[in-house]
Amino acid sequence: MKFILPLLVGILLLIAVPAPFFFTSTNTAITVDPSLKVIGNMTPVHIRLENPHGERSVTVTVEQDGKSYPATSVNAPAKYIRVEKNAPPLELTVNAGKQPMPALHEGKARIVVRAVSNDMRAMTAMKSAEVDVLLAPPRISADGAQHYINQGGTEMVVFTPSGSWTEAGVKVGDQTFRSYPLPGHPGQYFSLFAFSWNLNPDTPISVYATNPSGAVAKAGFFTKIFPKKFRTSTIPLETMHVERIVDQIDPQHKIPGSDVERFVYINNVMRQANNKTLAELRLQTEQKFLWTGSFLPMVDSTVESRFADDRTYTWQGRKVDEQTHLGFDLAKVMHSPVPAANDGRVVWAEDLGIYGNCIVIDHGFGLQSLYGHLSQFLVKKGDMVKKAQIIGMTGSTGMAGGDHLHFSMLVDGVQVNAVEWWDPHWVKDRILSRMDATLSDVNPDAAPAKTAKEKPAAPAAKAPRKAAKKARKRKA
Ligand SMILES: [Zn+2]
Repeated sequence: MKFILPLLVGILLLIAVPAPFFFTSTNTAITVDPSLKVIGNMTPVHIRLENPHGERSVTVTVEQDGKSYPATSVNAPAKYIRVEKNAPPLELTVNAGKQPMPALHEGKARIVVRAVSNDMRAMTAMKSAEVDVLLAPPRISADGAQHYINQGGTEMVVFTPSGSWTEAGVKVGDQTFRSYPLPGHPGQYFSLFAFSWNLNPDTPISVYATNPSGAVAKAGFFTKIFPKKFRTSTIPLETMHVERIVDQIDPQHKIPGSDVERFVYINNVMRQANNKTLAELRLQTEQKFLWTGSFLPMVDSTVESRFADDRTYTWQGRKVDEQTHLGFDLAKVMHSPVPAANDGRVVWAEDLGIYGNCIVIDHGFGLQSLYGHLSQFLVKKGDMVKKAQIIGMTGSTGMAGGDHLHFSMLVDGVQVNAVEWWDPHWVKDRILSRMDATLSDVNPDAAPAKTAKEKPAAPAAKAPRKAAKKARKRKA
């Protein structure tokens, strides 16, 4: 009997000492890149494994039709007693696809990851991800039209992607423009794209199609760029009400410095942030044309400033800033009614920094119009508006030296010269004729009779009156 108690203690100790190692064994958390939907010839697959004890082994395979193709296996020395407690996550990138696994064919497949924890229990965790195998590369061909493009302007191209593709559009240099199915033409797509005012006229333009396995097809098409010489002007800040402007935009003096320093900060940092917000509104676009005919300018207004005017700002004779003005400044009498340039949906109707009280109307397929410096809103976000409907009143909110409307058009987030969209001939030749469709086809809500009878707005260059000399004082 004397020996039974120490024996029991001994047995308990034998069980208890390794118990923490045994029972704290943790299953590995496995993540396979959730954006991976398709693998092709050679597709990198990103895998993350998390286990405080680390992994003794990891194997990755691709399975199809009950067969298994190894992608990789990783082994580490086994640990039983001195188990790691804070092993960092293991990031693995393996290649999957036809090239490393020649028997793979188009269709469904599964990526399977198995990981064994590096501790006494050596638990196996498993994770699988469904993917499509796509092997045929995308192909693309563009229309045979001649595309004459104004620097700072808009153009439309029709193209046909084929093979296995998931994204297609237009590339202009580094900028990408989305595409949409061409109404009434199955298999064909179109993009409205901008040739930004600040691009070199030699910038390459192409249509492209990609699939997520990394394959890209590109095709050029006939383009001719007409370079534009934009105006330059100098604005002495002494002629602007700098204090009123900066205090209105920054009433709590959150921006440090003198009024001129605050002005320059707003004109740079805030302008950039506001333009980024504007560009992101492109994602709030309808996938149909909401508009009909050409866009309305604010008639009988004075053009005080044009698209892509280069402005140098001076203070006490010294240059303190330089910015490009990406819109038209149109002035009438104070608090003039502002008409919607065309039918659409309001996607912004609130303050937007330098643009003050600002409205953005979406016209569909990435095309939007902007109205800045308003004194009053007559619509709210989400409202559907009609061409010529009064949406607000002109004002001088934001960075405006006087009462006027700042008007701009945007194509997939890029600000473009509105002159083209104001011109009924341009709209007909460059956009509508390429849709090969009447307006009633592209917009079931639009009455074709209205389009036919519509009095075309005079081209903007003629409609608004010549700029007055005092214009310089009003700019923004
Ligand atoms: Zn302006």
